[in-house]
Amino acid sequence: MPEALVIGAGQSGGPLAGALARAGWSVTLVEREHVGGTCVNEGCTPTKTMIASAHAAHVARHSAALGVHAGTVRVDLGQIVDRVQGIVGSFREGSEAGIVQAGVQLVYGSARFTGVREVEVALNGGGTRQLRADSVFINAGARPRMPEVPGLADVGAMTSREILHLRDLPTHLLILGGGYISLEFAQLFARLGSRVTVIDTGPRLLPHEDEDVAASLRQALEAEGVGFVLGAQLARAERSGEEVTLHLTGQDASQDGGRTLCGSHLLVAVGRIPNTETLNVQATGAALDKHGFIVVDDHLQAAEGVYALGDIKGGPAFTHISYDDYRIVRDAVLHGQQRRVSERPAPYTLFTDPQLGRVGLDRQQAQKLDRPTRIYTLPMTSVARAIETGATAGLMRAVVDDQTDQLLGVTVLGPEGGEIMSALQLAMMGSLTATTLRNAVLAHPTLSESINNLFMGVPEVVQGKREAAG
Ligand SMILES: Cc1cc2nc3c(=O)[nH]c(=O)nc-3n(C[C@H](O)[C@H](O)[C@H](O)COP(=O)(O)OP(=O)(O)OC[C@H]3O[C@@H](n4cnc5c(N)ncnc54)[C@H](O)[C@@H]3O)c2cc1C
Repeated sequence: MPEALVIGAGQSGGPLAGALARAGWSVTLVEREHVGGTCVNEGCTPTKTMIASAHAAHVARHSAALGVHAGTVRVDLGQIVDRVQGIVGSFREGSEAGIVQAGVQLVYGSARFTGVREVEVALNGGGTRQLRADSVFINAGARPRMPEVPGLADVGAMTSREILHLRDLPTHLLILGGGYISLEFAQLFARLGSRVTVIDTGPRLLPHEDEDVAASLRQALEAEGVGFVLGAQLARAERSGEEVTLHLTGQDASQDGGRTLCGSHLLVAVGRIPNTETLNVQATGAALDKHGFIVVDDHLQAAEGVYALGDIKGGPAFTHISYDDYRIVRDAVLHGQQRRVSERPAPYTLFTDPQLGRVGLDRQQAQKLDRPTRIYTLPMTSVARAIETGATAGLMRAVVDDQTDQLLGVTVLGPEGGEIMSALQLAMMGSLTATTLRNAVLAHPTLSESINNLFMGVPEVVQGKREAAG
């Protein structure tokens, strides 16, 4: 019977352990904290559940604009957190039950490689255990990065893990870092009733997004009271009583209260680092890149018989990517199929309101291509359903190959932007053309109906680098 050792019960480790066990393998899964990993316990599930509460608070506060006058809105963060933890617990227990029922041996402890496909597990209950297997699958994930800044370690800063357990609303939440995780928390806490200020080193938000998209999102968040201090570096942090003080340097640092910013709470959201430093993966023959991620080939193999899946291998850090890593590895080891990581799309959604859905190329990426593209943009103010529901912030954008008329990428910033993007992603997967989408009969008045209008507009023609140079 083939033997497998899976390290980490994240979004690929758990499903892979179950699939291998059901296929007749002898499987041991080592997990140091909780089944379901980041997504279920401290990532997607709790944040999106909290965002639902924040949305309810926002609707209640702003319903007067739609002619509905609600009473005073009272937010009970403790009740919200209890609801979040109830849902998290049910997801986690469901995953754990599925793994155990599949016949996987689940060991709670911290694994460390001691040789090629050999680990020592420091058991959570005490003691150690040596394990070895023919094949090893590493899904040990990543964790929040805490930068080394004088004073930061002593001010009680929270990461995305601790903030989920607050039971009292911060009066003024400072958020260091202006990326995707930061912006979701910023709007969520602003909607629940906190004052929120986001501090980032960059001159603008979300440099990986088109400038007008990032600006439109910033405008929407500012309209809800989120403050931004951009182009600022944290030089020093200190706490005095209930207050955290950040000393900032940089071009915009003189705005919004000067070079010193005070708040009641500090969330640090400046990126995530892989959980590799105590794993000693080099003992298996695998290598780490300069950021500590495990280096893998296009089939996720890190060394002979050793695979790395999910966030720990670097690249797009999303649940659906980690889950697809599971499918790639499962199909390789059980069915001899060789699907490549480089061939798959990497869509994502930012769960702010307006929501941002992205797949494939955006405008700034299209401008770097060596062939002509057409770029269609439709503001949400032109979408009937958005006007009817009072949610007109944002835009839809599609990049189309001028020769084939096929979609190369989609950006949707707007109500249910992730859902509309996914509809267009399916069109991309089916190689539908812009002309087909322009003429598709879509139900009125859905948000997706605006796909017709998107492709009815006059496109911006981008000639591509080669033509432009000529
Ligand atoms: C706040 C937040 C919001 C997010 N929102 C989204 C979202 O909306 N959509 C989305 O797609 N993604 C989101 N993500 C990212 C997503 O959670 C991760 O990409 C996803 O969980 C994939 O993780 P993984 O499978 O690589 O590993 P993880 O889920 O991190 O699991 C790794 C597991 O390995 C265990 N482990 C680590 N080291 C060891 C060891 N030495 N021995 C034994 N066990 C070990 C850990 O305890 C953990 O359970 C979010 C992340 C955060 C932090």
